[in-house]
Amino acid sequence: MTKKIVVVYSGGMDSYTVLHKAIATGAEVYAISFNYGQKHSKELLVAAKVCQQLGLVHKVVDIRMINELMVGSSLLAGGSEIPEGHYEGDNMKSTVVPNRNMILLSMAIAYAVSLEASQVFYGAHSGDHHIYPDCRPEFVQAMNAVSMIANYQSVEIIAPFLNDSKNDILAAGLAMGLDYKNTWTCYNGRDKACGKCGACNERLEAFAENDTVDPLEYEG
Ligand SMILES: [Zn+2]
Repeated sequence: MTKKIVVVYSGGMDSYTVLHKAIATGAEVYAISFNYGQKHSKELLVAAKVCQQLGLVHKVVDIRMINELMVGSSLLAGGSEIPEGHYEGDNMKSTVVPNRNMILLSMAIAYAVSLEASQVFYGAHSGDHHIYPDCRPEFVQAMNAVSMIANYQSVEIIAPFLNDSKNDILAAGLAMGLDYKNTWTCYNGRDKACGKCGACNERLEAFAENDTVDPLEYEG
């Protein structure tokens, strides 16, 4: 039987790279995205297009009902304004969706069990460690321990870039020949990326760090 992998795929550049990492293993890949009430659906549309082009099964799970538990995150419709600047700033903590990765991974694991997939891939990386507790190695390790025993079938959680920076991920993707035009990072869902929000700043820095130009179009 061909090995199956479920990939938590948002449409952003990290998970886009992870998706291709999973495909490169030769496994049958199943992508899962979540609509948790993001202020815009641009990332999800980009994800759907990529999966269609790759001929992958793509599930988009609507989990908007959990928003009732998640007041205040600026990434959610009805939340506060999206802060500009860098992730280092304390204001970026408002972009944290409570318990996000545990919720998403739980669902991805459920999907993996139903498919008899042995692994779930997701795109945690070192750049998020200081601000997002659920991207840290100890979280991944603990979550993995749980997912190995939570069902009759064990599912392994793999975060291939756990100890890598955003720059490293981009470097790995560029080495794989990936076209990052097929990704969306900006927290704003307009026609072109804003170039000002924390996500855009981080993305642009990663491209600069890799001595290459972001193929995405930016405002202004
Ligand atoms: Zn932006």
